[in-house]
Amino acid sequence: MPSIFTQIINKEIPCYKIAENDRFIAFLDINPNAKGHTLCVPKQEINKIFDMPEKLYLDLMQFSKDIAIALEKTVPCKRIGMSVIGLEVAHVHVHLIPLQDMSQMTFQHKVSQSDPEFVALAQQIKNNLP
Ligand code: AMP
Repeated sequence: MPSIFTQIINKEIPCYKIAENDRFIAFLDINPNAKGHTLCVPKQEINKIFDMPEKLYLDLMQFSKDIAIALEKTVPCKRIGMSVIGLEVAHVHVHLIPLQDMSQMTFQHKVSQSDPEFVALAQQIKNNLP
């Protein structure tokens, strides 16, 4: 069965999209650690990040950097935290999390946002992309 992220990529389920090209997509995490928590995902469904082909891995890092810079311009924070886990969704994704404190990297505390808030935030981040 395709991963939930492949279903998003195939437009079978919706997301709050920030950016997309032929190989990657970025969208807001639906259960964010902090406002602006974003996932950067390769379209190729690969389980583990260090199994990625070298070029795809490096290009994912570049794609994530571009998104992180736009995110930092959009959401007030001390810096953007980056994390790769994959215990819930076995399809490579980079978490980008605007941080005020370390607790936001623990995935223990979540913030709730309404649908209109997600829509507006995705648009604001998009507006800050190069
Ligand atoms: P992990 O696999 O542990 O790195 O976590 C997977 C992340 O994907 C979690 O932060 C979830 O909140 C997020 N997630 C799961 N389903 C969706 C979805 N449909 N849209 C956006 N984010 C999702």
